[in-house]
Amino acid sequence: GYSTSAGIENPINPSIKVHCTQLLINGNFVDSASGKTFPTYDPRTGDVIAHVAEGDAEDIDRAVCAARKAFDEGPWPKMTAYERSKVLFRFADLLDKHIEELATLETWDNGKPYEQSAKIELPMISRIIRYYAGWADKIHGLTIPADGPHLVQTIHEPIGVAGQIIPWNFPLLMFAWKVGPALACGCTIVLKSAEQTPLSALYAAKLLHEAGLPPGVLNVVSGFGPTAGAALASHMDVDKLAFTGSSETGKIVLELASKSNLKPVTLELGGKSPFIVCKDADVDKAVELAHFALFFNQGQCCSAGSRTYVHEVVHDEFIEKAKARALKRSVGDPFKAGVEQGPQIDSEQFEKILRYIRSGTESGATLITGGDRLGSKGFYIQPTVFANVKEDMLIAQDEIFGPVQSILKFRDMDEVIRRANSTRYGLAAGVFTNDLDTANTLSRALKVGTVWINCYDVFDATIPFGGYKMSGQGREKGVHCLSNYLQVKAIVAPLKNPAW
Ligand code: NAD
Repeated sequence: GYSTSAGIENPINPSIKVHCTQLLINGNFVDSASGKTFPTYDPRTGDVIAHVAEGDAEDIDRAVCAARKAFDEGPWPKMTAYERSKVLFRFADLLDKHIEELATLETWDNGKPYEQSAKIELPMISRIIRYYAGWADKIHGLTIPADGPHLVQTIHEPIGVAGQIIPWNFPLLMFAWKVGPALACGCTIVLKSAEQTPLSALYAAKLLHEAGLPPGVLNVVSGFGPTAGAALASHMDVDKLAFTGSSETGKIVLELASKSNLKPVTLELGGKSPFIVCKDADVDKAVELAHFALFFNQGQCCSAGSRTYVHEVVHDEFIEKAKARALKRSVGDPFKAGVEQGPQIDSEQFEKILRYIRSGTESGATLITGGDRLGSKGFYIQPTVFANVKEDMLIAQDEIFGPVQSILKFRDMDEVIRRANSTRYGLAAGVFTNDLDTANTLSRALKVGTVWINCYDVFDATIPFGGYKMSGQGREKGVHCLSNYLQVKAIVAPLKNPAW
């Protein structure tokens, strides 16, 4: 049973309340072992929304025990794949039915525009759950014609208990990217949400149980990184770890995994993705797409097109128009219709972004527009554009994770390829051109996991996503993600009469 509270009313839509604030362990909402809670804040005001149970090592251990039992004793991994797929399909239907509640929780806790939550992200979330629901009964091995008189088959088994650690920039979408493939494969899960945004994962997990998920299959522990997160990464009974967040924390969890039980780890980390505007570009269209590539989600995207390379032939016109577009961006209360940009997630990120803006000016970049906070309440930042940015500046190397566009001028292809590849990251890139040879050359030369040509941030469920270099290891979404949650077992037996 779910012991949920009477609920905390959303100030914009009082009918929508926060009910789920406890940890979800073995199918029940429970307090943390320590009894501790932590506040989660409304980034529009900095006010507390709710106090949420704070999980720590002991709670992670309880959750892993429940997931272990649910894996070893079933029924989940032993159910037919079709039965598992039906649970996921029912979950997707419930996600669609509860778009308003889920999108409200997401915007309230994260600050992203409500229209974005409800009309862009929620449909992507149910879509990816259906995508993996469809895979559940299509995962199978091979019969292999090996040398010698042997019957050789491979079977794909679920890897076991998956630990999953997710960030705050897309709380529900990251939840779906993680739990969809793991559940389709028959794994059980302990998921740790981000401490900034614990609310939507708890509500979605409740819906998943309503869809028929057996207890213990998905456990959700809210809490902090160095306590709950580290306990999960180093737990001896977790068989696989999937992490999304910063490259710094990625290094830590990889080390914890190797120092404990060598659990395999997939990492989706940061980026400093180039967006390359070629000389043949229609400048108005290029400006609009480059603006979207950087400013979407308050600039808080791992894939943000945060180095805008513009060919010298169109450069000056591009700067003027990029400035005009940034000035036109509507920033304000994310619950208001038509608002494109809400507040940043919290005071820490807010201060960090303002520090990067100061560093940009100090290192000699030209501030074209913006450059300061907006208003005096909440974590709003002016859409900011820098020109004359050089690769040796901090703002061209570090992930700012905010509404700060950096424009760099280039002359020829070889030069832009070399410069675009000159960071420690390799997550994504945008190429804006109508020239087929340019598009082909750039998309092959860039050392990144995704190249978007004349489009950006196309996150279809079917397309693999992941990073080169320090942007990560492994792929999520699409068919490639399944292998993260599977063991391939080879079964070899002698053939009595090899002639037949
Ligand atoms: P983070 O990497 O610290 O947090 C991501 C997740 O990891 C959270 O759930 C967090 O609790 C957990 N975590 C933190 N320390 C941990 C530890 N020692 N062991 C296990 N888990 C741990 O990211 P952040 O501090 O929220 O943000 C910092 C920067 O990270 C941002 O400015 C941005 O550059 C980057 N970031 C990237 C993404 C992405 O999608 N790639 C998402 C969020 C943040």
